[in-house]
Amino acid sequence: MTTLKLAISESQIQECVGRLAQLIQVDYQDQPLLVVGALNGSFVFLADLIRRMNLPIQVDFIRLSSYDESEKSSGTVRLHHGVRTSVAGKNVLVVEDIVDTGLTAQFIRGYFEDQGAATVRICSLLDKPVRRRTSVTVDYVGFEVPDEFLVGYGLDYNQQYRELRALYSLEEEIDGS
Ligand code: 5GP
Repeated sequence: MTTLKLAISESQIQECVGRLAQLIQVDYQDQPLLVVGALNGSFVFLADLIRRMNLPIQVDFIRLSSYDESEKSSGTVRLHHGVRTSVAGKNVLVVEDIVDTGLTAQFIRGYFEDQGAATVRICSLLDKPVRRRTSVTVDYVGFEVPDEFLVGYGLDYNQQYRELRALYSLEEEIDGS
């Protein structure tokens, strides 16, 4: 059986999103910004974040995978869809749901640098530093979290739970234990 345990409440998330939006707004002042969401997990966070920033922005999405249908990272990042917007000379802000090993973030940073972005910064709602396997810099972090599998607020397990307003840790219970 699977149970969900509250990890970060809706009000904690919303307070954090406001704080991140404020930091980003101050850093970019009135400069145009291309905000790129890493699908699928970031779409709820991105939608909230951009509505709290008062900046001239464009929005695009990128789709990658490093996780299979289980909870395990395959260790190889694959690009399924790149951006359609031209990137050269632009300030790019990548929005991620969670940085775990950091392989996805590192791949995305390289992808935009190769396309001639003026600057590339990464904003992640969640950060699991104990799992890191790269030295990638995450410029804006919402919450540092321990090594637990989290769902809700856009994050899934087998495509479930994305619609939840808060974040929960997923706990598998073995029947009869
Ligand atoms: P990384 O490349 O940093 O190892 O993996 C980042 C991706 O792994 C995230 O965008 C997310 O899709 C997935 N991931 C890592 N940890 C979790 C977690 O605790 N919960 C969920 N739902 N996805 C996770």
